[in-house]
Amino acid sequence: MKRRSIWIIIGLMSIAIIGIGALQMYWINWSIKLGKENFEINIFDALNSVSNKLIQQEQKENNVFDYKSTAEAEKIGLDLEFKYIEDRLPAPAVLQQLINRELSSKGIFTEYRYGVFSSDRNSFVIKNGNYQVDDFGPKVVVPNYSDSDLLLINSRYNVPLYALGVKTPGYLYMYFPKLNSYVLTANWKTLLAALLFTGAILFCFIYTILIVFKQKKVSEMKTDFINNMTHEFKTPIATISLAADSIKNPVINSKPEKVNRFADIIKQENKRMLEQVEKVLQMAKFDRENLNLKLTQVDLHTLINQAVSNISLQVAQKEGSVEAILDAGKHMIEADENHISNIIHNLLDNANKYTPEKPEIKVFTKEKSDGIEVIVKDNGIGLSKEARKHIFEKFYRVHTGNLHDVKGFGLGLSYVKALVTAHSGTVSVKSELGKGSSFILKFPYSQPK
Ligand code: ADP
Repeated sequence: MKRRSIWIIIGLMSIAIIGIGALQMYWINWSIKLGKENFEINIFDALNSVSNKLIQQEQKENNVFDYKSTAEAEKIGLDLEFKYIEDRLPAPAVLQQLINRELSSKGIFTEYRYGVFSSDRNSFVIKNGNYQVDDFGPKVVVPNYSDSDLLLINSRYNVPLYALGVKTPGYLYMYFPKLNSYVLTANWKTLLAALLFTGAILFCFIYTILIVFKQKKVSEMKTDFINNMTHEFKTPIATISLAADSIKNPVINSKPEKVNRFADIIKQENKRMLEQVEKVLQMAKFDRENLNLKLTQVDLHTLINQAVSNISLQVAQKEGSVEAILDAGKHMIEADENHISNIIHNLLDNANKYTPEKPEIKVFTKEKSDGIEVIVKDNGIGLSKEARKHIFEKFYRVHTGNLHDVKGFGLGLSYVKALVTAHSGTVSVKSELGKGSSFILKFPYSQPK
């Protein structure tokens, strides 16, 4: 997949997710609004019902039914004109009971405040179950409304009480302090589900994109590896072909010492190819996971000294030096000798390969309480933070343009990591670009059973 197509898909997907999110917000908003409207209808139903019941009660008490105007009421002997509203209402506790009953019959179960406002007195006469007036008139001097009065007066939820013709002696006001959270609570399931599903989609999207990028990188590294491998084999194959041609040449094949030289070249190049194949095979072998370590008591210092002497010739060619500073008192470890030797060789090889001029390579060992520490230090090109993160991955090679004449498959360090781990050890790197690198290995003295 081309990088461009990936970005186009990311763009499209992001737009789609933002769109879905926005749509959901819209629907949820809408459903909250609908819930609120429903709630209001129920409140007004309850309020009207309270108002009707109050009238019915008064009529029942006075044993009259169905008066439709003040004049008619007077005709039947009711003197409603001069009565204050608080005298016509039942006791506050009874009123509150009535309100409670009506609200719950409409399915409304949230906290509320209420007040009965008297048109004559221009103030609240009953509030939340208590009288606000005594025999001498209102306790509150109008228009000094308290905050709670104002909340009630400004509330849309009110109903006229005992309205008769054009006269309305009072109003019942209601106020719901937790209205918003009440409506929201009724919608929490929808909200939660929307959040969960959107979250899941987002998670899967990000995860998929990460995998696509990772796969892309792996495939790039594999291509790199194949290019590298072809390159590595081309030179020896060409050399072998040339040498064979030369041997066939009558001028040469009559001289045994010349034939011998070319045969040597063929043998050498063949050995080089074999080594390369060996490296790849090694990798394939430990890739299959069931590493069968042949554990014996291994003298780490002996292995290090051997490896140091093996590489010293190559280092000397670059006018460098390689030195072993072996301080560990205890240096016998339980390990697979062959693999440990390969590990040390790989690290020394890298230290030499990635130090273009005058390598100064040092190998240290230190005795620690739980094992032995081996440090391979060089003064080479070093590693960036990004490179340090990836060097132990298979096929990973640092791309520094001109430095790519340094040959390799990007397998050495992943081999080191896999085998150190198989030996219950650890490997880490300390390095900075241009300042050299130190690879730090730690092996336990004995392997866990
Ligand atoms: P290879 O050397 O075959 O490329 P390795 O797995 O041994 O593969 O190393 C991976 C990469 O890590 C190398 O390509 C190189 O970029 C970087 N690297 C390894 N050792 C060193 C070192 N001592 N100094 C700087 N870079 C290193």
